[in-house]
This record gives sequence, structure tokens and C-alpha cells, in this order.
Amino acid sequence: MPRSLLWFRQDLRVIDNSALDAAVNQGNAIIAVYILDEENLRALGGASRWWLHHSLAALQADISGLGGTLHLFHGNSQSILSELCAANDLSTVHLSRCYEPDAAALEQRVYKVLQPAVDVHRYCGTLLFEPESIVKDDNSPYKVFTPFYKSCLRRPSPGRAPVPPDAGNWFNDTLPGSCTLEELNLLPVAPDWAGGLRDTWQPGGQGAHHKLQHFLAEAVADYKTDRDIPAIDGTSQVSPHLHFGEISPRVIWHQVEQAVQQNPDIQEGATAYLRELVWRDFAYYLLHHWPTLPTDPFRPEFAGFPWQDDEQLRKVWSKGQTGYPLVDAGMRQLWHTGWMHNRVRMVVASFLVKHCLQHWKHGEAWFWDTLVDADQANNTASWQWAAGCGADAAPYFRIFNPTLQSQKFDAKGDYIRQYVPELAALPAKYIHEPGKAPAQVLKDAGVELGVNYPFPVVEHKMARERALAAHKAMPKNSG
Ligand SMILES: Cc1cc2nc3c(=O)[nH]c(=O)nc-3n(C[C@H](O)[C@H](O)[C@H](O)COP(=O)(O)OP(=O)(O)OC[C@H]3O[C@@H](n4cnc5c(N)ncnc54)[C@H](O)[C@@H]3O)c2cc1C
Repeated sequence: MPRSLLWFRQDLRVIDNSALDAAVNQGNAIIAVYILDEENLRALGGASRWWLHHSLAALQADISGLGGTLHLFHGNSQSILSELCAANDLSTVHLSRCYEPDAAALEQRVYKVLQPAVDVHRYCGTLLFEPESIVKDDNSPYKVFTPFYKSCLRRPSPGRAPVPPDAGNWFNDTLPGSCTLEELNLLPVAPDWAGGLRDTWQPGGQGAHHKLQHFLAEAVADYKTDRDIPAIDGTSQVSPHLHFGEISPRVIWHQVEQAVQQNPDIQEGATAYLRELVWRDFAYYLLHHWPTLPTDPFRPEFAGFPWQDDEQLRKVWSKGQTGYPLVDAGMRQLWHTGWMHNRVRMVVASFLVKHCLQHWKHGEAWFWDTLVDADQANNTASWQWAAGCGADAAPYFRIFNPTLQSQKFDAKGDYIRQYVPELAALPAKYIHEPGKAPAQVLKDAGVELGVNYPFPVVEHKMARERALAAHKAMPKNSG
């Protein structure tokens, strides 16, 4: 029987996977492969490696349930694919498109190497809308979210029902050069820091669908307001599943539309939720049209921004020891669970780039290493947004006050209590700013400032004025 190759990338799922469906429909024996390529692609962070291990295990189980095998490889995708095609006399390769500059360039090289002997078929499924399909009247790409969003809404619904694939013919013999999941060495050896991740997540398609169903049943109705409250489970937490392609955004869209049909009362929350999914598309859209986004500021005038370089400051930020309780809670949630609430991500990012004047690339790199949803498009676009140099960023002078953000979005201090236990016994009135608490209140709560909880590493008013001065001093003609 003729054979085709199905190359899994960031589409680690069997439901709504167009590349897989096409391979099944073609009728050839399917050689399903995943290649851990550390030569051509940005090295994964620790949390992502942990996730990938479990995601591949789940995909192996799902493919095995269909009667197939997922063959694993470690190395250069280009040479591995060429060898597989030659050794197995393959005529077709099916793959899902990726948009990160390195992955897109790799895709082009694979095309060049394999064609015309092999037909390479590329499918979409990572995004709701292909980036080339949404453009302004003059064919140039959007730089601002709202018109992009409106343009997306004018299209037919991108939703797709979660239909399982048909049974295929799978190639199950061992392939020379393939390895086991353990041989990919994705898990931490020692120390094993992944306990918090294990307690929090179930990587894989099943885990993704559970998260979505739970969200639709419990939280979507109040999403518009609750999404900003970090102490509440008010968001879907599907971001790592989306990043690894364990669930497609099209299926999420469809499921949300179905839920609204069944219960129109959730319409407002559902609309707000789908808007966030479009934000995700927008980040990929920006990265596709501006592939220098990971290295250069979107607003070129920021190229000469007078960043400071303070390793010690970055260290206390990353460890959640800044003396700003909401910032510290967020950074510790990140370290413990591999995820951080969006509102708090905005606050900690703003704190690093504006209060501490550290380059956004340092923050991006720390998030890349520690987030289970680390995603080049979302991470870069969001860090640039926080630094004021990104697309659609708020005016630079809007500098978050971390204490006011804390009082507004964690009014009772529940989120802080969960992640900064040394402050847990402080009353809500003082938990956002322990330095303002009377000595007796601190004593009763067991808080010793400078001993078991730090004084603020920078003073807010001074930091705000310094950031504004730095922005003013930025050479306006750079870039
Ligand atoms: C500094 C910073 C860095 C970030 N880095 C990442 C990252 O590496 N990976 C990542 O997936 N998200 C990133 N985000 C965006 C956002 O914080 C997360 O997508 C969101 O918190 C994920 O939680 P959720 O799935 O519960 O989101 P929900 O509120 O349930 O939203 C559903 C989905 O919509 C998308 N989404 C939600 N908010 C945003 C947003 N602000 N921008 C773009 N897409 C959004 C996500 O795919 C999310 O899973 C970052 C935000 C900031 C401020």
C-alpha cells in the first residue's frame, strides 16, 4: 500500500485536525511523526518541555486508540523528513501550518527539499482566520485590534464541530532512527520542580475538552466581569492546550456558539470570551505580518529607549520578592503552576518594564521558560504591549499602580493570601500595602518587613516619574 507522511507540529490532537483528516481520506498508509527539532526552532522553556512530554503521551494514546502509532524523532526536521520520504518512497506529506518566523522558514525549506518529488500539503487549524485573509481595503495588514476584530466578525463563523476522525490505515512498524518518549528527555531530571504543574494540569486533548466544558458550564456567563478577578476561576485556562494545538480554536468557537444557542443568557460572557480568542489570532497575525516582532519594537521609535540593566532587580521580580504583594503573588503563581492570571500578567509585566525599567525581552524570556502556555506570538505581542512599544499599546503615561490594581482586582486579598502565605493573616485593608499597616497589626499577623517579607524594591511615585522621564528622553528619531 502507498504511504503518506503526517507531520505533527503544534497540532497535537486528533479532533479537527485537517492534516490528519486529509491523510485518512487519501487512503494511504499513514506514517505519523513528531520531531523534536532543537536545531531549527527556539529551544523550549522548562515548563513547555514538561507539557510537551505529557501532551505527546496523550497524543500517542489517542492515535493508538485509532489503531495507529505516533513515531517520535529528535533532530533536524528537514533531514529527518527527507530521509523518511526517500526510505519509504513517500509521495505526500500532510502538515499543519505554523506562523512563528523560525517554524515558517523551516516549512519553506522543507517544501524546497521535498518538492517536486513529494507533494507537500499544508493545512490551517491553529488559528480562526488565516493572516492573509484579513486585510484593510488597501490590502495592507491591520495594526489596531478593533478594526481587525470587526473584520473577523464580518466573515462566516469559523466554528467547527468536534467530529472524531475516520479510521485510517496506519503504518505501525518501527522506523529506523525513531526514539521513545523518554528518550526525548523532556522532563526535569533533578530537582523535580514540576509537582505544581502535575497538580494543576492534565495535558492532552481530553484535558483540553474538560477545561472548556467546565468553563462553559460554570464561568462563561460571568466571564466579562470575573475574568479580571484573579482569585476567581473565571477564565477557561485553555491557553496551554491551545498553544500545543490539543484543541482547535475553531472547535472552541463552535462549542461556545452551541452553548449560547442552548442558553441565550450567557451571550454577553460568550461574546467577551470569543473576543479574547480573536486577540490570540491578532497576536499571530502581527507576528506573521511583522516577523521581526520578537526582536524589534513594533513602534520603531522605541529602539532607543533608555533601558536599565539590573540583574538583581530582575531576580527579585522573578522570585516574587518585590515587596508589592500582587506582583509577588503573580510571580509565585507562575513558578508554582506554570500559568498566571491575565490581569496579573499585565501588572507584573508593567512593573518590570516601567517601574524597574528592565527591557521587555528579559520578561519575555522568563515567561518563555516558566509558562506552560509560552507562545512566541502571544508572549511577544503582550510584552511589547506592556512596554508601550507594541501594536495598539496604551499611551506610555498610563502606568499601572500595582497597589491600586491590587485593591481593585483582589479587594479581599484572597489571591495574595493563596500565593504569598507570609501575608495571609493581614487584614484586607493592609494586605495590598503592608508598609502602611500599624506595627501592632504587622506583629499580630506575623509579618516582619525586611525579614520575612521585603520592603518595596522601588517606590511607586519615584518609579513612575523615572519611567516618564525615560520615555521623554527616548531619542525620537531612532529606529
Ligand atoms: C505579559 C503577558 C504575556 C503573555 N504571554 C502569553 C503567552 O505566552 N501565551 C499565551 O497563550 N498567552 C499569553 N498572554 C495572554 C493571556 O494572559 C493568556 O492567554 C491568558 O491569561 C490565558 O488564560 P485563559 O486560557 O484562562 O484565558 P481566557 O480568558 O479563558 O481566554 C481564552 C483564550 O483567549 C486567548 N487570550 C486571552 N487573553 C488574551 C490576551 N490578552 N492576548 C492574547 N490572547 C488572549 C488565549 O488563547 C486564551 O486561552 C500574555 C499576556 C501578558 C500580559
